[in-house]
Amino acid sequence: MTMTQPERDATSSGGPLLSVQDLAVEFSTSAGVVRALDGVSFEVSEGETLAILGESGSGKSVTAQAIMALLPRPAGSIAGGRIVYGGTDLAAQPIKKVRELCATEIAMIFQDPLSSLNPVFRIGYQIAEPFRRRRGMGKREAWAKALELLKRVGIPDAETRIRDYPHQFSGGQRQRIMIAMAIALEPRVLIADEPTTALDVTVQAQIMTLLADLQAETGMALILISHDLGVVADVAERAAIMYAGRIVETGRIREMYDHPAHPYTQGLLDSIPSASTIGERLKPIVGAPPNLLSLPTGCSFHPRCPFATEACKAAVPPLRQPDGWLPPHLAACIRSEEVLAK
Ligand code: ADP
Ligand code: MG
Repeated sequence: MTMTQPERDATSSGGPLLSVQDLAVEFSTSAGVVRALDGVSFEVSEGETLAILGESGSGKSVTAQAIMALLPRPAGSIAGGRIVYGGTDLAAQPIKKVRELCATEIAMIFQDPLSSLNPVFRIGYQIAEPFRRRRGMGKREAWAKALELLKRVGIPDAETRIRDYPHQFSGGQRQRIMIAMAIALEPRVLIADEPTTALDVTVQAQIMTLLADLQAETGMALILISHDLGVVADVAERAAIMYAGRIVETGRIREMYDHPAHPYTQGLLDSIPSASTIGERLKPIVGAPPNLLSLPTGCSFHPRCPFATEACKAAVPPLRQPDGWLPPHLAACIRSEEVLAK
């Protein structure tokens, strides 16, 4: 299929397409106010893939929800910072306006496609729907578009399968259908929140390849959220590692893979199975992520950190470039030099 890029003044300036600056998100709960994100900053440019990585509960999905104005209301809210897209701060816009913009320009796919597909409609109808509603196409034209998309995302026998219902597809095929729906209106940014977590390893790799191919065709920016550095390392150029609502390390993913500068990143890498560790025991990071209601003082990773000193308990370490390392490698650790030397 051809993906023509309409002229969009606001986003064609060559700078970052989406820039998240010092973002804070809070939830009010019966136990108190939870600060789920604290000072999160990153940006992504056209045609670029950024991975957001971290254990469960680190704030990855909340980041996506904040961008898309999908934070659960009224408990969740943006407590500070900016989400700049095409020169506009989405964090300062009414929710309705952001959702409207996201419907065509910033798309998202989730871990569980079944929750996003309607069980009672044929998938062709569901894929065609945005073309009818947002592009004013007639039934026949929209159906043809849906068929084209189904073929593009690699559903075999698309002419027949387009009449099937969601439950008639495998998990991997359903995720392909979700991708078809997400890219239908040619978004400039696609956020994929653990899109392959429920799938087996072979299908995971196929979906990652599909996303990378689509990105190369369309020039969209891709934000890949995962708890598994191994799954995204081949697809993403840069990564941001999250821990307890903060970014603790960011840089080129290859460099971080070879030389993690934060002990948490090092721990994440040690816990990934790889060809060289087959037969060896994997080393999970000891301990559990902290309760956001009672974060440890200073660096919130210090209770689990093999490098921690008294100084680590005193102050939250800012992101900084470790001595002798080239940008854009930043780590929020006062002991990065020791971590890198290990
Ligand atoms: P993950 O990195 O696994 O995607 P999330 O972004 O979903 O983690 O959640 C990060 C943290 O934000 C959770 O550990 C929780 O403390 C808090 N949180 C998320 N959603 C809610 C909610 N609806 N109500 C209260 N707290 C929430
Ligand atoms: Mg999540």
